[in-house]
Amino acid sequence: IGFVERYDPELGAAMQRELGRQRQNIELIASENIVSPAVMAAMGSVLTNKYAEGYPGHRYYGGCQYVDQVEQIAIDRACKLFGAKYANVQPHSGAQANLAVYFALLNVGDTVMGMDLSQGGHLTHGSPVNMSGKNYNFVSYGVSAEDGRIDYAALAKQVAKVRPKLLIAGASAYPRAIDFEKLAEIAHGYGAMLMVDMAHIAGLVAGGQHQSPVPYADVVTTTTHKTLRGPRGGLILTNNEYIIKRINSAIFPGTQGGPLEHVIAAKAVCFGEALKPEFKEYARKIVENAKALEAELTARGVKLVSGGTDNHLLLIDLTDEDCTGKELEHNLDEVHITANKNTVPGERRSPFVTSGVRIGTPAVTTRGMGPDEMKVIADCIADCVLDFASKKDEVASKVEELTKKFPLYE
Ligand code: PLP
Repeated sequence: IGFVERYDPELGAAMQRELGRQRQNIELIASENIVSPAVMAAMGSVLTNKYAEGYPGHRYYGGCQYVDQVEQIAIDRACKLFGAKYANVQPHSGAQANLAVYFALLNVGDTVMGMDLSQGGHLTHGSPVNMSGKNYNFVSYGVSAEDGRIDYAALAKQVAKVRPKLLIAGASAYPRAIDFEKLAEIAHGYGAMLMVDMAHIAGLVAGGQHQSPVPYADVVTTTTHKTLRGPRGGLILTNNEYIIKRINSAIFPGTQGGPLEHVIAAKAVCFGEALKPEFKEYARKIVENAKALEAELTARGVKLVSGGTDNHLLLIDLTDEDCTGKELEHNLDEVHITANKNTVPGERRSPFVTSGVRIGTPAVTTRGMGPDEMKVIADCIADCVLDFASKKDEVASKVEELTKKFPLYE
């Protein structure tokens, strides 16, 4: 940033302010993380100069011999990390990866089942405002009203009735483990394909903290920037030769132009990091920290959707509180804790207000915080829910103490 600041002071100053915000705030957005300097360096490299439409060994431009090596390293590491036969490392984002899978495997108008956005699913899983919902006949499934978990027997019944061509599993706000083996059994039992979007939990899968979908699903998509701790981007994995051929043409020339080889290099760095033994320890700590938040929030009387968590995220349930999701997000912002409001299953407030706040541990775990710090953070959150007016200053100083104790990019 120092370099940009000298070259372009106006832009550099704005970037400095963002670095300051990241240093000052406790980052609890469940989909965010803090990448290594090597991941950042790869993204800011000369590889951004190169056009390389096509795939390694089959490009539409000259001079691709070295970016071929870079992309092949990324592919090989992705396959090794997740135990998959084939990988496409070119999707510019998670949304691009999902849309490419639909383009590869479906015809416009085909019936697909995905988790409802308001119950934890992602926009690209059939929301009516997204291209997925506009091009395909999406029928959504939800979680059980009683315990906030996927009811596999009810889902099987729905699949039997709807008979989708594709069943999509994976979510943006589901705090519990997902049984991919069972979902594959359900989908395949009714002649449907199974796509797993493991964007949120990819780092936990890589680190052995969540069942891998790769042996069970026909195709797996993910982002690389959440628990996996890489650059912003997407990845598609499969063990099926026919499917990877369809996917490769759906990405290029189907839905994208030239690949971002600098980002692909950063994905290779990220996969290399995730293959190291330390990453297993990181994934274990993410879950340990989430459990520590669960214990203290519960002790303070703050309700959680499904009663807790199995993974990296928790959904605070404010249904019975005066404080709304919007208000809690605002209160947390005031004391420099960053999180996002989120609908909860059975939501009674508007999606702009909501009765939930989603929190997650990937970034604070990267920053070096452990269960002791999670107890402090949970207490800060509980104070922001229950008694913000009188506790605001005290909470703000606790946050300041914590962020100073765990410096960022020093
Ligand atoms: N899939 C899931 C489950 C997600 O949570 C997200 C992002 O929040 C995406 C896909 C989309 O990823 P991107 O923002 O990179 O398009």
